[in-house]
Amino acid sequence: MTNSVECESHGTQGETFVCQHIANSLRANVPVGFFWSNESNTTRPDAWCEECNERATRANGEWVGEAEELLGAKLLCGMCYDIAKRLCLGSDD
Ligand SMILES: [Zn+2]
Ligand SMILES: [Zn+2]
Repeated sequence: MTNSVECESHGTQGETFVCQHIANSLRANVPVGFFWSNESNTTRPDAWCEECNERATRANGEWVGEAEELLGAKLLCGMCYDIAKRLCLGSDD
């Protein structure tokens, strides 16, 4: 079951979660990296940026302390997620 979210741009979409930096990158149009857990097998797993990934790596892969504090998870609609993913992975169309 996926909960849905009402997006200003895309209407009702499935909800996804990304770190605040990815959410900001969507607005600023600046890629920040895009990472997710390879244990996740959902279509749009929770995602985080390169800096968050480095902080989590320093915390032995746990979202604790600084890693968790600076994650600042944001809700995105599925289509915004796809746009952010394309932007942050820097893949060509
Ligand atoms: Zn981040
Ligand atoms: Zn959207």
